[in-house]
Amino acid sequence: MDKIHSLLLRQIKRYFGSTDPLPKECPDFINAVNNAYLQFDSDRSMLERSLELSSQELIHASSHMRAAYERIVNSSVDGIFAFDRDCRYTVWNPGMERITGVSEDKALGKGAFDIFSPFQETAESRFFSETLAGKTIVAEEKLYTISGTGKQGFFEGHFSPLRDESGDIMGGLAIIRDITERKRAEETIQHMAFYDTLTELPNRNMLYDRLLNAIRTDSGRGKPMALLLMDLDHFKEINDTMGHHRGDLLLKELGSRLKCVLFAPDTVARLGGDEFTVLLPRLAKLEDIHVVIQKIQDALKSPFMIEGQPVEVEASIGVALYPDHGENPDSLLQRADVAMYRAKETGSGYLIYDVKFDEHSPRRLALIGELRQAIEKDQLFLHYQPKINLKTKYVIGVEALVRWQHPKYGFVPPDEFILSAEQTGLIHPLARWVLKTAMRQSQAWRQTGLNLPVSVNLSARNLHDSQFPDHLAELLKITGGMPEQLELEITESAIMADPQRALEIITRLRTMGLRLALDDFGIGYSSLAYLKKLPVNTIKIDKSFVIDMAKDEDAAVIVLSTINLAHNLGLKVVAEGVETEKILDKLSTFGCDEAQGYYMSKPLPVDALTRWLKESPWRLK
Ligand code: C2E
Ligand code: CA
Ligand code: CA
Repeated sequence: MDKIHSLLLRQIKRYFGSTDPLPKECPDFINAVNNAYLQFDSDRSMLERSLELSSQELIHASSHMRAAYERIVNSSVDGIFAFDRDCRYTVWNPGMERITGVSEDKALGKGAFDIFSPFQETAESRFFSETLAGKTIVAEEKLYTISGTGKQGFFEGHFSPLRDESGDIMGGLAIIRDITERKRAEETIQHMAFYDTLTELPNRNMLYDRLLNAIRTDSGRGKPMALLLMDLDHFKEINDTMGHHRGDLLLKELGSRLKCVLFAPDTVARLGGDEFTVLLPRLAKLEDIHVVIQKIQDALKSPFMIEGQPVEVEASIGVALYPDHGENPDSLLQRADVAMYRAKETGSGYLIYDVKFDEHSPRRLALIGELRQAIEKDQLFLHYQPKINLKTKYVIGVEALVRWQHPKYGFVPPDEFILSAEQTGLIHPLARWVLKTAMRQSQAWRQTGLNLPVSVNLSARNLHDSQFPDHLAELLKITGGMPEQLELEITESAIMADPQRALEIITRLRTMGLRLALDDFGIGYSSLAYLKKLPVNTIKIDKSFVIDMAKDEDAAVIVLSTINLAHNLGLKVVAEGVETEKILDKLSTFGCDEAQGYYMSKPLPVDALTRWLKESPWRLK
């Protein structure tokens, strides 16, 4: 507060030439702007901009003061207006002209609601009266409507009272910013992230979100909850014989039929392909599952008319129950999937999960059993995928990705054993092994003159382990690694599983000097508002959006909006999944900071990467 005060004072002295005595209006002016901006935003850039602003009192001041005032108000990027006790506009800057489309000469002297439509149902109508009653009001993301044109948008800002020399309220001052574009971008991203574009049904993320919510709010209440996973029988053949376009129409029609038979609080979602799920969060009794399944089967009975052609459709459904078959979204989905496959195999229409089904997956069991040994006996190894800076085109680091060459099953993709490792707790020794190996490798590269910081992926479980930061500190000591050479990649889902604990651990990691990146951004289910609070340095846009950019305009819009938003929040942006030069160029024009993907290089073993660094067009600085 004092700092702003003295900064403003200094600025005013500069504007008005003299130092002492200041015009008597100045202290009031300082206070008005001061209070205004303290409310508006406390960050530095705002603080600096606050120096450019002025207030009502100056109108009555000396002429050179007025000239200075006009310069200040007219050059502000924000909208500034003042009004008198009758709510008539007395100041209307070009910023307001830009926002409302109403010019200064039309606005001055008009009543508050001659320009803004009277916002009956919303809080805005109070802004003027409450300001005149002496309150300072902060407006966050408020809707405005312009009376004449009906133009709508969003603003944020704040209203504060203006007082005369004797301290009586003579009107109000508002400083507002049009945030319509930002809101729209946020909404687009939010919508794309949570809804399936084909069927307009909730997608996997939204389902995940609802599942988590249902688990959190319903746990302990004893009401059964069920997750149904449905997969069409022979959809591939339909697609192959009728074409993808008709296949899509069928899925769309199926989506609408499901929407018609299921209502809130149930959620119908499309996971992708011909896979749909139904979440029944509050069953009165278990038997109701059969009623719901009957409704679904009835909805599929009549043939689908696709471009005039009737198509018969059948489906298999697997059911998992909470908490009997799983206590988190991943395990419930996995169990419903197992039950669905069983239902398909046996042609039984639908089945509720049973442990017996899992015994039939010897590969999965064998993998779980052998993972511990693999970690201890160094059967795992790391591949490294380079990341490049899009401006300089230099390689600026690598991501470590774990690999398992199983003696019997051959190459096992990480997606397959990471989940098992999480479920069995083996994720802790696994993470330590990966970190140790990656840090040693980074050190080894340094010793040969290669500066290659390494990014390592963490699992949700690592972020919920309060000993993890200590283990990491110890590893840094043992390997002689430096925190700035290491970046940790975490996902939103990992954080959201237990936000408080995760946030505490993330904060500790940050204070240790480690950099953090939010991985798979865009497919997570946390809100953008939440991102503002996360102490991460970087976001990695999920490869699904980046890959789709080539053919899907919506995906390109998401990527661009995400880059802009992240930059607004002071975050660096990495795009992963860059598979073509065209996408790389597009990302450059979007202002993306870094890129990673098959176009530059697949993840490679150490030797191959070292060779690649020498031979490829991408080099180390
Ligand atoms: P991720 O962290 O999103 O890693 C990127 C994945 O995208 C890698 O798959 C990589 O090979 C792949 N990728 C890279 N560039 C491209 C591209 O241009 N196009 C396409 N289509 N894909 C690309 P990978 O190695 O199979 O890893 C899969 C996931 O397994 C990782 O996703 C990460 O979530 C997990 N994972 C891998 N290593 C570890 C680890 O050490 N610890 C933990 N907790 N998870 C790991
Ligand atoms: Ca990653
Ligand atoms: Ca990723």
